[in-house]
Amino acid sequence: MGLGKSGLSAAAALKAGGAYVCVWDDKAEAREKAKTEGWALMDIDAARLDVALIVWSPGVPHTLPKPHPLAVKARAQDIPLVCDVDLLCRAQEAATFIGITGTNGKSTTTSLMAHVLRTANRAVEVGGNLGTPALDLGSLGALGTYVLELSSYQLELVPALSLETAIFLNITPDHIDRHGDMAGYVKAKKRIFQGQRYPRTAVIGIDDEYSAAVRDELVRAGLHNVMAISTKQVTRGGVYVDNGVLMDATQGHATALIDLKTIPTLPGEHNWQNAAAVTAAALSQGISTATIVNALTTFKGLAHRQELVATINGVPFINDSKATNADAAEKALRCYDNIYWIAGGIAKDGGIESLKPLFPRIRHAYLIGEAADDFADTLEAGKVAHDLYEDLETAIEDAGTRAMKDKMPGAVVLLSPACASFDMFKSFEHRGDVFRAEVLELWPEGTARKSKSGKSKSGEAA
Ligand code: ADP
Repeated sequence: MGLGKSGLSAAAALKAGGAYVCVWDDKAEAREKAKTEGWALMDIDAARLDVALIVWSPGVPHTLPKPHPLAVKARAQDIPLVCDVDLLCRAQEAATFIGITGTNGKSTTTSLMAHVLRTANRAVEVGGNLGTPALDLGSLGALGTYVLELSSYQLELVPALSLETAIFLNITPDHIDRHGDMAGYVKAKKRIFQGQRYPRTAVIGIDDEYSAAVRDELVRAGLHNVMAISTKQVTRGGVYVDNGVLMDATQGHATALIDLKTIPTLPGEHNWQNAAAVTAAALSQGISTATIVNALTTFKGLAHRQELVATINGVPFINDSKATNADAAEKALRCYDNIYWIAGGIAKDGGIESLKPLFPRIRHAYLIGEAADDFADTLEAGKVAHDLYEDLETAIEDAGTRAMKDKMPGAVVLLSPACASFDMFKSFEHRGDVFRAEVLELWPEGTARKSKSGKSKSGEAA
């Protein structure tokens, strides 16, 4: 059900495994395409569905806000709904599984986890909600480790999930339409801990109240090896960050591992949370602190998330196109003192009002897209210098030229739009790719990192 990337990958994998597969998508166009590729269509109007199992695309609602009629019918006939990740868990029972969830930071943490394991010479496949669909991943067997990014939607569809190590980063209000309320959202996320296998490690960020409550609940139940992580407080038995210094407290006493402020690919407190989570998970997998530190320092970072595109005449150009709302842009703005800020696109409710406390860091704003006028009003009220632009290219040129001329200490040109991209670009990835290409075209002498294309969530940037 649902013929997107993961649906088609599941259909192909099941067929290869000898199953009889029929497919469905509500979009006639997708069905037609499937038919021409030789897939049989499912008879969703049949009184009795003649199938053993439905592989359900997590993006299609099956409970809230309104269940799809096929989900209602399947449930009435006790036909399980699962997503592709569930089939991977069943097919690769002998492998090790590490899963990552959270409202923010999933992709970064997933990539960093895979990088640490690879640095430790482990055989790794990485995917799920990030990049490669679960059933397109290679077959690993007993000696390999799957590192899976898991969304709350997927977690509702994985009864066979059985992770050695589960990472639960943070939780803030999101996707309430699909989960009913915060309790429903937390419940979906908590499924990451269900059915865990030895050593049943639960790595939990405790810096928000919802996650802290989940940690308390797991500790009380006493079934998991709970490792708390924090960037704000000391966590006994876990990993925490003290003013940027990564502290390993898993052995009772606390040992400083590395000052994360020295790692340019992990900027900001939000990335310290991701690094702390990966460190705890890697320690629970028996990886040495030396290997972990080595991996943290060699991590290339992900495209479009505070990605350093090039440093030109001492000015870093940073692509944070993934910041599609003010909350995400705030994370980036916090990291720099003198910012030549490129923003705009399709704004979310509230615009950039919430960013006012960070306005003193902005030397000049370069506004694009539908939101430009509104953002200009907010910046005007906050006495921040700004200009409006018809296109991203000219905004980059002006921002870069001014930043190089002003020579402010620690100046950066930052694309962190606080907006969706669809008014001018196909996607946030497209917007970030245009930014990267334009910077390198304008200043070819820049000391660029060799990341040609940010292939969305499919992997490391370079
Ligand atoms: P996700 O896959 O959950 O969307 P990403 O790793 O792609 O997360 O990061 C998306 C954005 O979320 C980043 O650009 C950054 O602004 C923010 N972010 C990353 N890690 C965290 C974190 N641990 N806590 C809060 N925000 C974060």
